[in-house]
Amino acid sequence: MPTTTTIPFIEMRKFYHQEIHCPFCGKDPERDMRDGGEFAPCEHTLLMSHSEFWIYLSDRAEKSLSANGISAERNDGDVMFTKPDDEDLDYDDVFAAIEADEAVGFHRIVGPPAMESTWIAFAPVSE
Ligand SMILES: [Zn+2]
Repeated sequence: MPTTTTIPFIEMRKFYHQEIHCPFCGKDPERDMRDGGEFAPCEHTLLMSHSEFWIYLSDRAEKSLSANGISAERNDGDVMFTKPDDEDLDYDDVFAAIEADEAVGFHRIVGPPAMESTWIAFAPVSE
């Protein structure tokens, strides 16, 4: 039976506009995106999602989801998650099924009127 480690997400309500750099290598995966380019994950980036769509899911996060019964299907720049017998699968379920030792995540919350959230998480890699 797989154990589940929930990524600790730091909620950023006041400093949600803060640029997030990887705590393990210092890269800012969103830098190019802010100039209209692509999201550029470093090797530590586990995931990046927005309230409305998924921006990035790493292969190791996908493997972990799969081991916990959730399949991820990449589709046109988004990712759809499914789990048999669970039609109400939400982001919390997905995050809870991603196991990565000593991961850290940031949940940026933009208040009214935008009411948007983004999640980005990193974890060290072995070797
Ligand atoms: Zn990194």
